[in-house]
Amino acid sequence: MASHRAPSAGRRRKSLLPAAIAIVVAVVAVVSLALALGFGPFGKRAQEAVEPAESEQSASAVQVDAPQEQPAPAEVEAPAEPAYDPATDWRNTEFAVDPARTEWNYEPGEQKVVYLTFDDGPSANTAAVLDILDAYGIKATFFVTNINPDYASMIGECYRRGHTIGMHTYTHDYAQVYASRDAYWEDLNAIGELVRSQIGYVPCFIRFPGGSSNTVSANYTLGIMTQLTQEVLDAGYQYYDWDASCGDGAEHTADELVDATIADTSYGYTSIVFLAHDGAEKQTTVEALPRIIEYFQEQGYTFAPLDRNTCAPHHGLGN
Ligand SMILES: [Zn+2]
Repeated sequence: MASHRAPSAGRRRKSLLPAAIAIVVAVVAVVSLALALGFGPFGKRAQEAVEPAESEQSASAVQVDAPQEQPAPAEVEAPAEPAYDPATDWRNTEFAVDPARTEWNYEPGEQKVVYLTFDDGPSANTAAVLDILDAYGIKATFFVTNINPDYASMIGECYRRGHTIGMHTYTHDYAQVYASRDAYWEDLNAIGELVRSQIGYVPCFIRFPGGSSNTVSANYTLGIMTQLTQEVLDAGYQYYDWDASCGDGAEHTADELVDATIADTSYGYTSIVFLAHDGAEKQTTVEALPRIIEYFQEQGYTFAPLDRNTCAPHHGLGN
């Protein structure tokens, strides 16, 4: 009851007064000593503490993080593990290709490479996909979401096992993601922060929900893909559509997925960014994956994760 709390609080304040005075005196003494030793805002140690932060901001590798918020003070203070250094990660080097290039990467004589990409995870199927990739010694790319929050830690697991992490969408709700440009950026920043919490930084690799050529976004905002595709490039990201797919965006048997893979890659592209999914409903993709991998191997392809040297396929814009 209020009538009890008020008097007791008053007694506590009275009894604590001498102790409070003693604490204030002690703090003043410690601060005076620290200033005398050069720990103050103008001391040598304070300057040393500022300099690394300035050099980090000027490093090109950090530009990808530019649209993101600065790390919260709590993150800076966390001493447990060495800080992740984006400059040492090859996934953060400069793009080596023209971001506007939209041609098929079709250059005879080059080594044939497939970039397997998995959208809509992580989910209960991601662990099986990882084990299959390990069994074949293959690195791939995961365009992740927050559709299944219980599996968020799998983002870190994919990364630690050598795969590239890209950002697909936080909600994957078209009505929400494409409600406006601000809504898109809010969604992208949300998945960026989730990925940062798992791998230590926000990657530059993006795949739009539905691809850049989607027309469903026109139901919500006319012209939004034309604007967003330029905005993400301007912000330092790169977006990756795909050259071929196993067709698992719709429900199919494993046999059908293998057949669709063969049909969709019959042109014999040198470089293939290949779309598949590791969402919760994609058991047949897991079932078909070994045969899809072996098919590409028989065709003379090797496998690689996306990096900034990968030609980024851009579909034609439909909205
Ligand atoms: Zn998707």
